[in-house]
Amino acid sequence: MRILILGGSSEATLLAKTLSQRADLDAILSLAGRTKNPAPMPLPTRSGGFGGVEGLVSYLRDERINAVIDATHPFAAQMKRNAAQACAATNTPLCAFTRAPWVAGEGDDWIEVDSAVEAAAALGETPKKNVFLAIGRQQAGAFAGSPHHFVLRAIDAPDAEALPASLDLVLARGPFTVADEIALMRDKKIDILVSKNAGGEATRAKIDAARVEKLPVVMIRRPKTPERPVFENIGDALAWIEAHCPAS
Ligand code: NAP
Repeated sequence: MRILILGGSSEATLLAKTLSQRADLDAILSLAGRTKNPAPMPLPTRSGGFGGVEGLVSYLRDERINAVIDATHPFAAQMKRNAAQACAATNTPLCAFTRAPWVAGEGDDWIEVDSAVEAAAALGETPKKNVFLAIGRQQAGAFAGSPHHFVLRAIDAPDAEALPASLDLVLARGPFTVADEIALMRDKKIDILVSKNAGGEATRAKIDAARVEKLPVVMIRRPKTPERPVFENIGDALAWIEAHCPAS
């Protein structure tokens, strides 16, 4: 049985490690190919876009894929839509393996918005703030016209697209501890954090640090996702695989 894992998340890595132990399953991990030096993976890996829905339909047919697990990052909305359409067109079973979003608790001061553009607007014009932009590099352009000073942390440098005029680039790969995040916030005199509601443990230290430092957070809500079974627990995802890819 051939399984395609759409990756780019810690869930995909966990699933890849688990399925690499299974001799009865032939699993392939697909990455978008954005990260310049991706961590080594325990499964055969392909890299780069499929070429939209049509390209993915061809790939599923050519590679005789029996089931697809969408383990992309919660904000990879286009890939999720493409996977749902291509799986529907080819009658390929599809499920998602992901993590629950974060929920604001006591001591959190969140301004929730629906996009990076709305996050930029939520910062207002005055007074001038030091903004910790912890949303990766891809949507930094949404803050290009903003009058504030930005500390942009990303794994790789952003492309030479429009970026905020006042920018301090911090190139670093997590995970970060709460102590790391507090140290950065203090060092850079951060007034406000902008984050995506990625959920999970790997990137939540900045949210905990903002609570400790009593900093407001502009939290970008997740994009809408297509209808398909969604699992937040690896055991449930494995049970789905058993049901759709029975051992031969
Ligand atoms: P996206 O907007 O949903 O996807 C844009 C295009 O990238 C897709 O249409 C597809 O190209 C290609 N693509 C995305 N994921 C792919 C995969 N796993 N395998 C092959 N092609 C893929 O995605 P994104 O937000 O740019 O994210 C790109 C990748 O980074 C994803 O794999 C995601 O899991 C990971 N990631 C994203 C974020 C985030 O905040 N967005 C954060 C951490 C990691 P074609 O149409 O040509 O097939």
